[in-house]
Amino acid sequence: MRSNFGFATRAVHAGHLKGEEGATVTPIFQTAAFSFASSDEAFRRFQLGEGYVYTRYGNPTVRSVEEKIASLEEAEDAILCSSGMSAILVALLSLLKSGDHIISEESIYGGTYTLFQEILPRMGIEVSFTDTLNEGKMKELLRPKTRVLFLESPGNPLLKVLPLSKLANFARENNLITIVDSTFATPYFQTPLKLGCDLVVHSATKFLGGHGDLTAGVIAGSKALLEPMRKTFHRQMGAILSPWEAFLLGRGILTLPLRMEKSAQNAMYLAEKLSSRPEVNAVYYPGLPTFPQHEIARSQMRGFGAVLAFELKGGYQAAVRFQDSLKLILRVASLGDVQSLITHPASTSHRMLSPEERLRRGITDGLVRLSVGIEDAPDLWDDIEQALDGLS
Ligand code: PLP
Repeated sequence: MRSNFGFATRAVHAGHLKGEEGATVTPIFQTAAFSFASSDEAFRRFQLGEGYVYTRYGNPTVRSVEEKIASLEEAEDAILCSSGMSAILVALLSLLKSGDHIISEESIYGGTYTLFQEILPRMGIEVSFTDTLNEGKMKELLRPKTRVLFLESPGNPLLKVLPLSKLANFARENNLITIVDSTFATPYFQTPLKLGCDLVVHSATKFLGGHGDLTAGVIAGSKALLEPMRKTFHRQMGAILSPWEAFLLGRGILTLPLRMEKSAQNAMYLAEKLSSRPEVNAVYYPGLPTFPQHEIARSQMRGFGAVLAFELKGGYQAAVRFQDSLKLILRVASLGDVQSLITHPASTSHRMLSPEERLRRGITDGLVRLSVGIEDAPDLWDDIEQALDGLS
C-alpha cells in the first residue's frame, strides 16, 4: 500500500487480504497446513517459496497483519511472534552467537532484564546494563564482540525516554545493531526506524492489540535483517503467532490511532491532576514539562503515550492501600488495554530484583504504574481521588 497514505488510512487498509471473494475483513486461515494441487506445485512452494506450505512457516492471516505493522513502522518487513518476549529472543538469537556481547539500557521491562541476566549468559551471550543517556559509560563497556545495543523507550516502568537518533549514530559508529522496544509508544507516536535504529520490537499484547485479549510480539526492520530471522530462527524455534490471534491483533490495530489519541489525552489529564496532590512525591509522564527527558520526547515522539507512573509518599503500604481502594481501575500486571490498569512494580513485575537493585533503578516501594484506557477522564480521576483521599 502507498506509503504516503496517512497513518489512520494505513492502520485500516494496509495488509488487508480480500481474497477472490472480496472479503471486507481479512479471513482467518485456521489451518495447520496447505494442500498442493500437484507434486510440481509442492516442489515450487518448498523450493521457490511460492505460496504457503505449513502455518509454522507462514500463514495468510498472519502475513496480512505483518504487512499492516510493517506499513505503520515504515519498515520493509515485520515478523509476528507468539509474545513480546519471543520477539526479543528470536531477534537476539538470530543476530548473536556464543561469545557475543550486548549493551543494554538498564531501565527496561523486568522480563527482558531477567532474560538478559539469567538466560542469555547460559548460552554464552553476556549483557552489560547501563544508563544509555551517558555516552561515556557506554564507551567504557564496548568490547570487540559487542554486537547489539538494546534500548526501550519509553522504558518500563519509569517512562525513561532515550535519544534514539543519537544512540543509533553511536551504534553505527561502533558497528552495533540497535534494537528498540517501542511497546509504550506504538508506531502511532514513534517510528524508531525513521530515527536510524535497525530493528523495532513490540509486545503486541499491549497497545497494538489494545483489548487485553491476546498475547503477541513483533519485530520490524529491513528485509536483510529479517529474512534470516524468519527462515531459520523464527520457523525452527516455533515462535509463531496463531492465525486466530493474528486476526484479533489485526482487528485491534484498525482503531489504534483513535485509542492512542484518547488514552494519551486521558494520561495527560491525570498526570497534571496527580502532580498537584500532596500524597504524591513524583509523577513520571513524558508529556509533563517537568519530566527529565520531556524535550527528547517532544523531538522524537508525536505524542507522549498512555502510561504514567507515580510515587506515593507512604511507600509500600500506601501503594498497596491505594490500589486496593480503586473501584473502577483494574489491578492488572499488564498495560495497553482500553480499560485503565494499575500495577505495583515492587510486588509484581520487578519483585525478582533485590530491594537495593530496585532502588538503584528508581523503582521505589511506593511507585505505581498506570496504563490509561479510553474511559471518560473525570471518572478515572474520581476513582483515583477517592483512593488518595483514603490515604490521609
Ligand atoms: N516489552 C515491554 C516494554 C513490556 O512491558 C513487556 C510486557 O509487559 C514485554 C516486552 C513482554 O511482552 P509479552 O508479555 O507480550 O511477552
